[in-house]
Amino acid sequence: MFDYLIVGAGFAGSVLAERLATRSNKKVLIVDKRNHIGGNAYDHYNEEGVLVHKYGPHIFHTNSREVFDYLTNFTEWRPYEHRVLASVDGQFLPIPINLDTINKLYGLSLNSFEVEQFLESLAESIPVIKTSEDVVVSKVGRELYEKFFRNYTRKQWGMDPSELDKSVTSRVPTRTNRDDRYFTDTYQAMPLHGYTRMFERMLDHPNISIMLNTDYHDVVSFIPFKEMIFTGPVDEYFDFKFGKLPYRSLEFKHETMNCENFLPAPVVNYPNEQPYTRITEFKALTGQKHPKTSIVYEYPQAEGDPYYPVPRPENAELYNKYKKLADQTPNVHFVGRLATYKYYNMDQVVAQALTLYKKLTTDKPTEKAATTPPITGSASIMEKILSRDPAKE
Ligand code: FAD
Ligand code: UDP
Repeated sequence: MFDYLIVGAGFAGSVLAERLATRSNKKVLIVDKRNHIGGNAYDHYNEEGVLVHKYGPHIFHTNSREVFDYLTNFTEWRPYEHRVLASVDGQFLPIPINLDTINKLYGLSLNSFEVEQFLESLAESIPVIKTSEDVVVSKVGRELYEKFFRNYTRKQWGMDPSELDKSVTSRVPTRTNRDDRYFTDTYQAMPLHGYTRMFERMLDHPNISIMLNTDYHDVVSFIPFKEMIFTGPVDEYFDFKFGKLPYRSLEFKHETMNCENFLPAPVVNYPNEQPYTRITEFKALTGQKHPKTSIVYEYPQAEGDPYYPVPRPENAELYNKYKKLADQTPNVHFVGRLATYKYYNMDQVVAQALTLYKKLTTDKPTEKAATTPPITGSASIMEKILSRDPAKE
């Protein structure tokens, strides 16, 4: 008899398995229909020996000390601040739009104060910001919106930014300084030996059993368990009772090139001319040294594996129907990006899973908890991160 059957070995399922097994001495079975753990964060060494992310670039960043400290139990970190260039009008320009983006694009030499005035002169006044178009146009005006956001978003989501919730393009800020980092979170780092290694360490416990290549539908009636934690698509769990929740998919085209370096930045976004949205060069994220380099192109798709919930009001309404049903389903707990239909980053999913764990249990450590390494204070973690020399790794 398992205490928990966990569907999905991504962040949501793995965090809960780890906590329940090590802190509450629960017997856990994780099933995943894929042939690996890690969910969409899975990485592996390809045929050429380059560490790649199978499901597109995964860059860890968080403002949550709790989340960072928690994951530090299972990995060392490589300090990494992400930077992206956008291919616009024949140039590679920093995105998020910043002072240098404007100066390079228009051949100007404005300072921070002047660029602020410049953007104000372009911005359209929109009384209530509702959509992803409103967010950008109200900050930088229509021309920059069309060069950097409109077509990228139409490609990525298969709909116009005016049809998408404001939260989507709000993920990308506008800056009047020269900060060209994609994220400004307090903690920004990559797992030193990759995500999969981190997951292996999370799940390495005698109370945790794992069945891969297994759709839970095929085994659920044979496996004795008390409670279920479900991290797959919530509409699928309820047999699409209220209709399908839209999820956006991607096709990943991986390539290895016979050169050490291919792109001018770790990620290059292609808003306009290309059918793909972006190209990622993995060695730039992982710091790996290798004579060849591996890249991935992302081609957005309507059909395929569900990767992105689509944030728009009618979808939120449909999700709420499923949520009501989920809340009334005894002994089944829904958690993660697909099961709660939220455009969550990895750290948000970890936080959501830790919160569910606290709800499920009073978190009284048992004797077995002694096998869990103590959580280190984050000040010392950051010192370790900052003092590490990536060139030596
Ligand atoms: P998942 O990782 O999707 O895990 C769910 C698991 O459930 C899957 O392994 C699936 O196979 C399994 N499953 C589903 N149905 C069944 C079934 N019927 N039976 C058995 N198993 C089932 N976040 C960041 O923080 N930084 C990034 O840079 C970043 N980049 C991203 C890039 C892309 C292209 C994508 C798609 C996402 C990115 N994310 C990023 C988001 C990140 O991937 C998610 O936040 C995180 O992986 C979600 O974890 P999860 O456990 O909720 O879901
Ligand atoms: N976006 C855009 N142009 C860009 C980068 C982002 O239009 O160069 C928009 C697009 O709608 C995208 C959203 O902003 O889906 C969020 O971007 P992010 O890089 O956070 O997407 P993710 O990494 O989650 O795919």
